[in-house]
Amino acid sequence: MSNLDDQATLSVCGGRGFVAAEPVRELLSPRTVKLGASTEVRRLLPNLGRRMVGAWCFVDHYGPDDIADEPGMQVPPHPHMGLQTVSWLHEGEVLHRDSVGSLQTVGARELGLMTSGRGISHSEESPTSHAKFLHGAQLWVALPDAHRTTEPHFQHHADLPAVTAPGVAATVILGTLDGAASPGTTYSPLVGADLTLTAGAEAGLPLDPDFEYAVLAMSGEARVDGVPVLPGSMLYLGCGRTELPLRAVSDASLLLLGGEPFEEEIVMFWNWIGRSGEEIAQARSDWMTGTRFGEVKGYDGAPIPAPELPATPLKPRGRRR
Ligand code: MN
Repeated sequence: MSNLDDQATLSVCGGRGFVAAEPVRELLSPRTVKLGASTEVRRLLPNLGRRMVGAWCFVDHYGPDDIADEPGMQVPPHPHMGLQTVSWLHEGEVLHRDSVGSLQTVGARELGLMTSGRGISHSEESPTSHAKFLHGAQLWVALPDAHRTTEPHFQHHADLPAVTAPGVAATVILGTLDGAASPGTTYSPLVGADLTLTAGAEAGLPLDPDFEYAVLAMSGEARVDGVPVLPGSMLYLGCGRTELPLRAVSDASLLLLGGEPFEEEIVMFWNWIGRSGEEIAQARSDWMTGTRFGEVKGYDGAPIPAPELPATPLKPRGRRR
């Protein structure tokens, strides 16, 4: 998915100074963002005062939306650089096309992982014939400096490893959880996992004390370290934990996101991550002149023009909004 916010703002994030070294319980409220004419998403990252969790730097939760009589998701071609996009659905499907020739339908609980590296463009749409409901999350992972100009590529994995405990089933979307590793390529130590809890279940999820974590509620009612987390909200948990207490009040579904705190300061603007305002300005110029980001074939519609750069120069201006 694209950051279609027409009021695109620059954000600067990353660096150790912004990380909670100890366990914390910081409940993040979403910001509602309209994508196109009909779709609304709840944006959890970047959030006021909290911009990253490990290398995870963008989190949208959308649906469940009844799209039986609607086109559903329609995101025309747009560029990315310096990041990976993760498509994760609970209901419905998304048809992905990109400028390196990928054409892939990503279904529920399948990993659609696009590594933009130095530059790629893609479109995402609900297929003409689609399921009644669309429910999912769109996430970005920042690439560390050593890998951010890697060759762009797309991976699709329908078969992901699972970790189970009584009342809890975890699917490892990306990275490693309790020794189980996703086949998706990662470029920094991190984890993304989908947790399904049955009503009444209590469990302690093993965590890496060197990672910082957050949990996003997808559906149902669960307590995370004692805190009720409702769908669309995300609880930031800080670092220093070896176990995460979970309790399901009803059948519930959570996304666990975590990783080693991202040391590098990054500049995010629209769908790009760079290290300086000059890099972002170059990316914008390249997209608007049709270079670097390639061409998406087969999408019925024009590419999305980049928003104007802000009048003030893009440069680091602190980690908090
Ligand atoms: Mn996108």
